[in-house]
Amino acid sequence: MSESGWLAESHRMVVEQLRQRGITSEAVLQAMERLPRHFFVPGHRHRAYDDAALPIDCGQTISQPWMVAAMTAALELKGDEKVLEIGTGSGYQCAVLTLLAREVYTIERIAELSAQARQRVTRLGLGPVHFRVGDGSLGWPEAAPFDAVLVTAAAPRIPPPLLEQLAVGGRLVIPVGEGEVDHLVRVTRERADFLRHENLVECRFVPLIGRYGFPEGASREQS
Ligand code: SAM
Repeated sequence: MSESGWLAESHRMVVEQLRQRGITSEAVLQAMERLPRHFFVPGHRHRAYDDAALPIDCGQTISQPWMVAAMTAALELKGDEKVLEIGTGSGYQCAVLTLLAREVYTIERIAELSAQARQRVTRLGLGPVHFRVGDGSLGWPEAAPFDAVLVTAAAPRIPPPLLEQLAVGGRLVIPVGEGEVDHLVRVTRERADFLRHENLVECRFVPLIGRYGFPEGASREQS
């Protein structure tokens, strides 16, 4: 894909899928316009800017652009945050976060995906990003607290370690659900002893598999 070709597609994605459908954060719109999304879906480059989730390796998915934008906007990043992402996948969401925060920590349970994502993020010169292979439902206690936590796979309920690792003033965004539909939930730690919960939008994600997620072997229809 030529430089002018993907820039035009990325611009159209931002205008038609994101701005027109209610994403108002200029920082998020700019970050997504300037990132080469096709770089993260080598098997589906021609569909990289489509209004859809796409398959990546190991039976996983890269989320639909609108969902990436909505989740990122919900974190309300100002640029100085330490962010934890659970579910590195292709590395695209992580790359978006690097343009909006100070430092990103990202955990993926599938080693092959983590390695691919690391390669892409490094080749694009983005960062700093810390990669870990493991069960993200446990968080990253040694690096806590985090100003923002983003989970990109659906959990049956909010993993307690992620709440414990959220800084005062911090926001956790996570899809939660056990049935046909998940709800994107935002939890804000307004004070050390007070968490505010908000239901943002209905969604559908691949399962978070781990100690505070679904059991190994769980599968769902779509992300
Ligand atoms: N953020 C990714 C991107 O931009 O491409 C998309 C993530 S995909 C929808 C969800 C990812 O979560 C999958 O790669 C899956 O392997 C991973 N995952 C599921 N359970 C996990 C867990 N307990 N810890 C870390 N990653 C997990």
